[in-house]
Amino acid sequence: MTTIREDDLIASIADALQFISYYHPPDFIRAMRSAYEQEESPAAKAALTQVLVNSRMCAVGKRPICQDTGIVNVFLEVGMDVSWSGKLSVEAMINEGVRRAYMHPENVLRASVLTDPDGARSNSKDNTPAVIHTRIVPGDKLSVEVAAKGGGSEAKAKFAMLNPSDSIVDWVLEVVPTMGAGWCPPGLLGVGIGGTPEKAMLLAKEALMEPIDIHDLKARGPANHLEELRLELHEKVNALGIGAQGLGGLTTVLDVKVKDYPTHAANKPVAVIPNCTATRHVHFTLDGSGPATFEAPDLDEWPDVAFELGDDVRRVDMDTLTPEEVCTWKAGDTLLLSGKMLTGRDAAHKRLAELIERGEPLPVDFTNRIIYYVGPVDPVRDEIVGPAGPTTATRMDKFTGMMLEKTGLIGMIGKAERGPAGIDAIREHGAVYMIAVGGAAYLVAKAITRSTLLAFEDMGMEAIYEFEVKDMPVTVAVDATGASVHREGPKVWSQKIAERIGATRL
Ligand code: SF4
Repeated sequence: MTTIREDDLIASIADALQFISYYHPPDFIRAMRSAYEQEESPAAKAALTQVLVNSRMCAVGKRPICQDTGIVNVFLEVGMDVSWSGKLSVEAMINEGVRRAYMHPENVLRASVLTDPDGARSNSKDNTPAVIHTRIVPGDKLSVEVAAKGGGSEAKAKFAMLNPSDSIVDWVLEVVPTMGAGWCPPGLLGVGIGGTPEKAMLLAKEALMEPIDIHDLKARGPANHLEELRLELHEKVNALGIGAQGLGGLTTVLDVKVKDYPTHAANKPVAVIPNCTATRHVHFTLDGSGPATFEAPDLDEWPDVAFELGDDVRRVDMDTLTPEEVCTWKAGDTLLLSGKMLTGRDAAHKRLAELIERGEPLPVDFTNRIIYYVGPVDPVRDEIVGPAGPTTATRMDKFTGMMLEKTGLIGMIGKAERGPAGIDAIREHGAVYMIAVGGAAYLVAKAITRSTLLAFEDMGMEAIYEFEVKDMPVTVAVDATGASVHREGPKVWSQKIAERIGATRL
């Protein structure tokens, strides 16, 4: 019989979450490095460069890879010969570990978990509770998989109850393009097949905890149907040409992991859950001898890359920006922004819409300003602001027409594509939408030289700030004519990949 001490589990969970906030798993770094080396699309390669530079900076600076430090997922396997010493329930021990990790003074993480999700949506302030799955297994050890899953990738999870004769590959190829770029590709797809609806979702999530090994599988060849499926999905999803950040390119998925379970004769449940550029998970085992320890990856794992801008970059002074200047920018242009911008995301937009509807004055003047969709991590030490990458812009589509028409706003920065409502509003008002790289949050934060709270302080990380930035790189994703890089890029690259595959088969 092994006895697990309460303090050991709490400390191990806290240390695991701190560890994965700034270290990508080594298999993920290697896969990202290989994607970077093979990428031919200039836009995707630039995005991958930023991801890798950011990843190394976070490993050195011990600060979060992404401003969204995730919702905590824990998979426990409790040996039947394990006993416990302590007063808390196992769930309470894990949540105490989460609390300590997210409120760590040296590396404070962003609390993103809200209670009352269809009501007041109040921030629990310490990122609790975790989502915990427990299995009782033979043995005398406690096996723990800890993940911090970003909201952008969770938002793109899909489920379907297929007919038994339907093709899993066809379904996956149908749904992946509908996921857009809000899940910050490249990353992984977890596919769960069989069981019941909730079991298929759980299998997909569990599959994401497995190591990236698609290149080994390719080299040795498939040994069973699931391995054949993985290879087919990996090739065909990448052939969609979605690429890094949805800009069009050779790598959309670094691996596809599949798990299955027996199911009813009448059913074929299937789920897909993506894992993003900020893939964060680690495994540890407790055997009663003390808390887990974690080994930092070797800094030589990261490629020696630097983020450099080409000569065609345009420098923009946001303090003198006019609607006329914005109209001269073209989709695909790289800009270096300096000067002052405003921030705001879901909750701030909702409150602004309510103020406008009631005819009340706005707390901030948006005339000829740019808004950055961001919810940063709190700063530590001498930081102006913590990691501050973009959030998914699609969620702001329903507010975009109102913001452009009623407030004088002329530009937005976020991540991923805009939907039809957002693009129509941008075209109609001659505005612009730009993207920063999702998952390069620490790198982006380095461009911010001043941060001032302007309004909605009660919203915490969702409040409206004014950031002053110096040389912040962005790409024009939707220009004033409505042209969109997220529509054009994947179209061009899927065609190039198809031609290449066709040529090799001749
Ligand atoms: S990389 Fe993208 S999807 Fe992942 S946590 Fe960060 S913002 Fe969210």
